[in-house]
Amino acid sequence: MKFTYCPHCGTKAIPKEIGDEGMIPYCEACKIPLFEMFSTCVLSIVVNEQNEVALIQQSYGNPRFAGVAGFMKCGETAEDAAKREVIEEIGLVPESVTFLESHWYDIKCQLMLGFMVHVKKDEFRLSDEVAQAQWFSFEDAVHTVREGSIVQKLIQKAETMV
Ligand SMILES: [Zn+2]
Repeated sequence: MKFTYCPHCGTKAIPKEIGDEGMIPYCEACKIPLFEMFSTCVLSIVVNEQNEVALIQQSYGNPRFAGVAGFMKCGETAEDAAKREVIEEIGLVPESVTFLESHWYDIKCQLMLGFMVHVKKDEFRLSDEVAQAQWFSFEDAVHTVREGSIVQKLIQKAETMV
């Protein structure tokens, strides 16, 4: 999101050269540059001790199997967000969280931070947002998610690290 007006005081922003950043919208009243804003999300590949991957189907929206994902909250680390989403969505206890890689999701203008979250295999306790969760082998997981998707790239990356 590019700023036309200052979100703090409503003054119309003017372009100003900010060091190496180039021309950036600037609020002369607050004296702050208004850098572009975007959402940051975490997307986790949940793996159990048998090297199976948990994929979920959301209750709303896309019916395809996907990873456990959600928006970050202000004040939490990306690792905490990854753990929180796993607990909230499928009710399993994260034992470790490993950063995989990040991807820019152009359609939704979001930065996706990919993690591998290790859990013990257990019964899923699903949130209302999740219609179904299922364990897959890495090979089946790769072919179950959408071809070329970010979650597919993260499953392939996670497989090289288990
Ligand atoms: Zn302002």
